[in-house]
Amino acid sequence: MKTWDVIIIGGGIIGPSLSIALRKRGASVLVVERAEPGREASHAAGGMLVDCPLETPAVLQPLATASARLYPEFAYELEVESGMKVDLRDFGTILLPSTEHIRHPALRASALLPVRLAEAEPALAESGFPLRPAFYLKERSVDPRALTAAAWKTAKNRGVDFSSGDEVTAVTVAEDRAAGVTTVKTAFHAAKVVNCAGAWSGQIAPHAFPTRPVKGQMLCLVMPSRALLKHVVRSPEAYLIPRSDGRLLVGATVEEAGFDKRTDLATIQRLHHAALALVPELRNARILEDWAGLRPGTPDALPILGETQTPGYYVATGHFRDGILLAPITAEVMAALIEGRVPEFDLTAFSPARFP
Ligand SMILES: Cc1cc2nc3c(=O)[nH]c(=O)nc-3n(C[C@H](O)[C@H](O)[C@H](O)COP(=O)(O)OP(=O)(O)OC[C@H]3O[C@@H](n4cnc5c(N)ncnc54)[C@H](O)[C@@H]3O)c2cc1C
Repeated sequence: MKTWDVIIIGGGIIGPSLSIALRKRGASVLVVERAEPGREASHAAGGMLVDCPLETPAVLQPLATASARLYPEFAYELEVESGMKVDLRDFGTILLPSTEHIRHPALRASALLPVRLAEAEPALAESGFPLRPAFYLKERSVDPRALTAAAWKTAKNRGVDFSSGDEVTAVTVAEDRAAGVTTVKTAFHAAKVVNCAGAWSGQIAPHAFPTRPVKGQMLCLVMPSRALLKHVVRSPEAYLIPRSDGRLLVGATVEEAGFDKRTDLATIQRLHHAALALVPELRNARILEDWAGLRPGTPDALPILGETQTPGYYVATGHFRDGILLAPITAEVMAALIEGRVPEFDLTAFSPARFP
């Protein structure tokens, strides 16, 4: 009977990133994905690497900051090992603050640099509100689709095994410990199992983690010229994320709509109008695509990271709006835990035991 050291459930960005960290530590790893790999939240994401205290919960800040710092190395390694580009961009973000941002104590405490739009991002200055307050944030962005594909390829090259099109129905437990997983097709055996099933994590027996889907609709335009926008732009109306190939992502809604991934015309038009109001030059931009994805939400909007009450059964989920940002640090802290070491960050606030 073939066994692995660790079985990971879910092939979004979190599962394969963790599989690579575990392989580096010498573990044999199987990733089980119920559909096509990397087609859920990690495919839908914008890829902003937001670690700004205005938008990051205080208790998550150390992990967010550490993960943002790990990104250049993380992305470089995936690019070299997969031979694929992940479009890590380092031009920073222009934040057009909301009223809540202006009132936020972190706005005064943090080193946000006011910018003049006419100099920093002329396309924005042509909007009807060029004198709006604007701040510069030193944040990067990445292409999550390319990143997830590169993580899969890297994991494969490093000898991680995959079973896709295979849904896990339960984690098997023997003598009160994790013993593997049961899928719709078969059963796989390992002494350690990690649930990285995103918004679906709570559906896998025996533990019903309180994850829920939080829908986000997005629109993708083609900029009339690649140089039109350099920075990520975040405003209360919409955010804009330029890619190096000339695409421009416009996002995103935050909706409680169950497992419904349909887009609706009125919402996509609202995003389109918001983009045009910010950057009038987009009026002739071609619409390439729209889509919706399901963020893995939790009751306190914090991830769930740690070992469950079943020894050998771990969980790394609930990354909500920050799973792309948090992938490198999640891989590091979870690999340390699974290896039996104390992770370098206190994970108490993210413990699965915090939910009854
Ligand atoms: C519109 C939108 C915009 C976003 N923008 C950003 C952003 O700018 N920056 C950022 O950091 N984050 C962003 N996010 C959040 C980010 O996408 C998620 O936090 C992250 O992708 C979660 O990764 P994951 O691997 O946990 O989940 P997923 O990518 O959803 O992967 C989970 C995988 O598990 C599989 N699975 C589920 N159940 C089973 C089962 N029973 N058996 C086997 N496999 C199973 C699924 O098929 C899926 O492939 C955004 C999300 C959305 C929707």
